[in-house]
Amino acid sequence: MVSEHASPLAALGGVDAGGQNVHVAELSLALARRGHDVTVYTRRDDAALPDRVRTHPRLEVVHVTAGPVGTVPKDMLLPYMGELAEGIVEDWGEDAPDIVHGHFWMSGLAALDAARQSRSAGRPVQVVQTFHALGTVKRRHQGVEDTSPSERLMLEAMVGRSADRIVATCSDEVFELKAMGVPGSRVSIAPCGVDLELFSPRGPVEERGRAHRIVSVGRLVPRKGMDIAIRAMRDLAALGRDDVELVIVGGSGTSALEDDPEAQRLRTLAAELGVGDRVVLRGQVSRAEMPAVLRSADAVVCAPWYEPFGIVPLEAMACGVPVIAAAVGGLVDTVVDGKTGLHVPPRDPGAVAAAIAEMVSDPAWATELGGNGYRRVKARYSWSRIAADTEKAYQTALAAAAPAQQATARRSAARRLESTGGRAL
Ligand code: UDP
Repeated sequence: MVSEHASPLAALGGVDAGGQNVHVAELSLALARRGHDVTVYTRRDDAALPDRVRTHPRLEVVHVTAGPVGTVPKDMLLPYMGELAEGIVEDWGEDAPDIVHGHFWMSGLAALDAARQSRSAGRPVQVVQTFHALGTVKRRHQGVEDTSPSERLMLEAMVGRSADRIVATCSDEVFELKAMGVPGSRVSIAPCGVDLELFSPRGPVEERGRAHRIVSVGRLVPRKGMDIAIRAMRDLAALGRDDVELVIVGGSGTSALEDDPEAQRLRTLAAELGVGDRVVLRGQVSRAEMPAVLRSADAVVCAPWYEPFGIVPLEAMACGVPVIAAAVGGLVDTVVDGKTGLHVPPRDPGAVAAAIAEMVSDPAWATELGGNGYRRVKARYSWSRIAADTEKAYQTALAAAAPAQQATARRSAARRLESTGGRAL
């Protein structure tokens, strides 16, 4: 696994640490549990990090020095992907893996580069790619605010066309990939999953500040739509409901929220809308505490502008909590409208408020939705199932490569034969 900015060992909730970190950590562990030997390569962003950290007998995280040893925003990491590839190839030595799996477009570049070097040394490696997010979608929604490097769209499409197999996480992504020129025949779907041992309906429940509670969880970046949830609180108040609090989880630590411009923007907005007394910015919440926070909610609101996948709705459903989700990206697949939660149009605080009002005024129905959500994630979204789906994609990549690899082996055998005048075989 290559995950340049998103270490499986990082704390979550900061601007660049969220779903990808969880995905790489959990998928790698589930594959290791299935008997695969897995190594995760990630960029060293702290001098104190050890070179290698073993987290399971078959799973190791390797910190590769690529660029400055310190925090670098992910949108500035492109120049260091060559160095990352070098570090990976060096670590492989004579023992290249069957598969290198890139996560995010820049890791895809490093994975392709490492595989190319390994292939030319006669050690074939198949490249599988999961994008997690696509530059085309980001550009469409963020326009001039998009801070991705200008080469992203071109390089991302190149990664899509060059990888042996692409693993998309939802059906919406498959359409986007087709539009980028990636043939559907090279795309498999394996969604993200959820840790069903950690996230479950039973367990500690955090105390509420009001009769009803809505929770929103995500990195504090504008596209996560936390402001939509705050605006919905104003609309709820206009509907006569001031017994509902909104708890926003995310950010790079509780104390650091004072310096977090997005947290300040949200706080100011809540105050301006007259709902500052019922909007709580909790800052970062650890994995261990997250289930208790989710369980304390009548409903979890996910109101992003767009969402490549969205693990939070799965975590909420696993805790038996219904989800109010903007009908975008992966949320269209994971949340079933009227069964495990409600879909609302994107960027529509009025619709979010109406959905919250419906749920808090009919707790029996909300409980039923939560129960359905729990059964849905249990049946479809365990990491062991996702690992099995991913393994199928790996097998497909290896099977497609077999004839080419045999040809390479034949060619190098022929070369050896030629160079030794027929004695090598
Ligand atoms: N998360 C967390 N603590 C926080 C904020 C977020 O553990 O303070 C986790 C959250 O529970 C989820 C992940 O970060 O597992 C966010 O993933 P998601 O796919 O919803 O969003 P992304 O970060 O990929 O945009």
